[in-house]
Amino acid sequence: MTRAAVIDWARELYEDLDFTVVRRWLDESPGRKAAGYLPVYVPREILHAGGDRLEIIRGDAFYQSYICHLPRSVIELAQSGRLSMLSAVLFPSTCDVIRNLSGMWKLLYPDVYVRYIDVPQVADPAVAADFYEAELRRLSWDLAEVAGRKPSDDDLRASLALYNDMRNTVRALYAARRDRPWDVPSEELYLLLRAGELVAPETFMQRSREYLAAIEADPRRPRDNSRVVVTGAFCEQPPLGLIKSIERAGCYIVDDDFLIGDRFLTRAVSLDGDPTRALAEAFVGNEMRTSVMYESDAGGKRRLMSERVAAANADGIIFAAPSFCDPALLDQPMLRNGAEAAGLPCIAFKYSENTGQFQQFREQAGTFSDSLKLWGAGVPS
Ligand code: SF4
Repeated sequence: MTRAAVIDWARELYEDLDFTVVRRWLDESPGRKAAGYLPVYVPREILHAGGDRLEIIRGDAFYQSYICHLPRSVIELAQSGRLSMLSAVLFPSTCDVIRNLSGMWKLLYPDVYVRYIDVPQVADPAVAADFYEAELRRLSWDLAEVAGRKPSDDDLRASLALYNDMRNTVRALYAARRDRPWDVPSEELYLLLRAGELVAPETFMQRSREYLAAIEADPRRPRDNSRVVVTGAFCEQPPLGLIKSIERAGCYIVDDDFLIGDRFLTRAVSLDGDPTRALAEAFVGNEMRTSVMYESDAGGKRRLMSERVAAANADGIIFAAPSFCDPALLDQPMLRNGAEAAGLPCIAFKYSENTGQFQQFREQAGTFSDSLKLWGAGVPS
């Protein structure tokens, strides 16, 4: 497949709010079940073993105005029947909004299996692993009931291996963009990742390999753009227009936390021993640092942006968080404080997934990019 063909395929999936690809997959084999999950991270291995274009009419009626946009669009999708093919929905313990959404789902759709997934947030790794292993086992049993089939340890081990490969593929895409952002525009990378949320991992990896081969075969010329880290967008996703606006304003995005669940586990899950325990230990030993995980090191948040900027060889930071997002906006002062103390230029703006006007973002990002080029790390933030 050519680069354009891969991106056309991904864009078609992104724009299809009826999830036709999922419905088709279900129709192909009676007995299949589909499950949905909310950001930021869920153990997709357990599932496997066994919007910015949505007008919110009904969804708004369920929520007050001063919370983020994500639960409204999720309820809107459900109330309009677009999620009627789901047999199970998983709600990870990202924040109170997601917790409340899980309760609402139970009331509205009593026939759908709903699970609020508590992840360990304690310093003792043995206690945390025991707790999470028990959570994963319960989830696995429950999903076996939904699916009508209990997966064996070998089934789960095969899923662990598959998702290890999938994370490696995502990391390869991110490394390619970091090294040659002119060849891997963030708009294209993002569309590919979104497709990976809907199709089988094997299909996603195949398309990703085709994409990487296509950019090797047809390299583009670098532009005189600035290199920026975009951070804060780990849950409610920014509209595609916002990502395009940042790039078109002259910024190469060289690191971000879009769809961070795809990269959440930073190391491969061991395929030795008990697979449920291995997945629990991989989560507990994980090095991903994000606002939805407890950080015991008081100075960690202050150092984090310097570390990310250095790893991505970036010139500056754009804090882009959803409006009313507690985890992102509570962390932002600590992250920004540390970045500014290290002399790193920053700007910040807020968005919601249905933001439709991008001119102000483009102007802000454009001015930031110009100042980075003119003054580099000396630019006042
Ligand atoms: S966008 Fe922020 S506040 Fe809203 S559900 Fe996600 S983490 Fe929670």
